[in-house]
Amino acid sequence: RTLERENLFELLRTALEQGDIPKVRALAQTLHPREILDRWAELPGEYRYVLLTHLPPDHAAAIFANLEAADQAEFLETLPPWRVQELLEALDPDDLTDALQALQEQNPQLAQELIASLEPETRAEVEALSEYEEDEAGGLMTPEFIAVRASMTVEEVLRFLRRTAPDAETVYYLYVIDDERRLVGVLSLRDLIVADPRTRVQEIMRPDVVHITTDTDQEEVARLMADYDFSVLPVVDDAGRLVGIVTVDDVLDVLEEEATEDIHRLGAVDAPELVYSR
Ligand code: ATP
Ligand code: MG
Repeated sequence: RTLERENLFELLRTALEQGDIPKVRALAQTLHPREILDRWAELPGEYRYVLLTHLPPDHAAAIFANLEAADQAEFLETLPPWRVQELLEALDPDDLTDALQALQEQNPQLAQELIASLEPETRAEVEALSEYEEDEAGGLMTPEFIAVRASMTVEEVLRFLRRTAPDAETVYYLYVIDDERRLVGVLSLRDLIVADPRTRVQEIMRPDVVHITTDTDQEEVARLMADYDFSVLPVVDDAGRLVGIVTVDDVLDVLEEEATEDIHRLGAVDAPELVYSR
């Protein structure tokens, strides 16, 4: 980390000390959420509260999504209600579902209230995602993918993208579905923009899509991504219908958690060995 970035963080801390909210907002936005998260533990609780209350919702959500489950639950209990609403709507559906599940354990009543307060579309996404196991693809996926029809022309797809891209988790891969929403092809944004606008998706898509199912174990998901070098994998249900995508950022979080668990497990195995080795 460069000195310049460190200095930005110190300026942020000073602005927090002075209670200068406009400055806090401006400085926090020049920092990456990760840079704030790395120093999160050393910030006094009241400053964390100020950050999550006053940063623009997207930025606050990016920080919130990476907090420990217990901390997430505590913020949902204590932040101003208007801010909680903004945060919930700004979170990606997969992160939102995780946060609400964490809250469910700590404060089931508030969790139910918050779920009821979501916009109908968001609530439906959370309810669908809650059905899946946490350590399987269904629990990692987001429903915010881009799906197109094989009969569409490149020009139509580009027009469609201008409308839908702002809400999609990623725009780099477009999945092709049939009338039953079954996954039948894939194309990349590059494939799309280099093609003649009159070409039909059918002619440029790849029909053999590497995919996973909602019950694919998360370690298998990570392995497939590494083997095939795809940063995104589509998820289908039992009937082959496209229901979500898993992106590499979520898989990296899983690998980090599992590595930490393994290290702890090694520690537990080592201890008795030390005793017996004498
Ligand atoms: P760039 O490499 O610049 O990101 P690209 O178009 O080369 O762009 P890649 O990620 O390299 O994109 O993907 C290469 C090809 O793999 C693309 O044609 C894309 O449609 C295809 N592809 C993407 N995902 C899958 C998948 N799950 N199964 C099969 N093919 C896929
Ligand atoms: Mg490529």
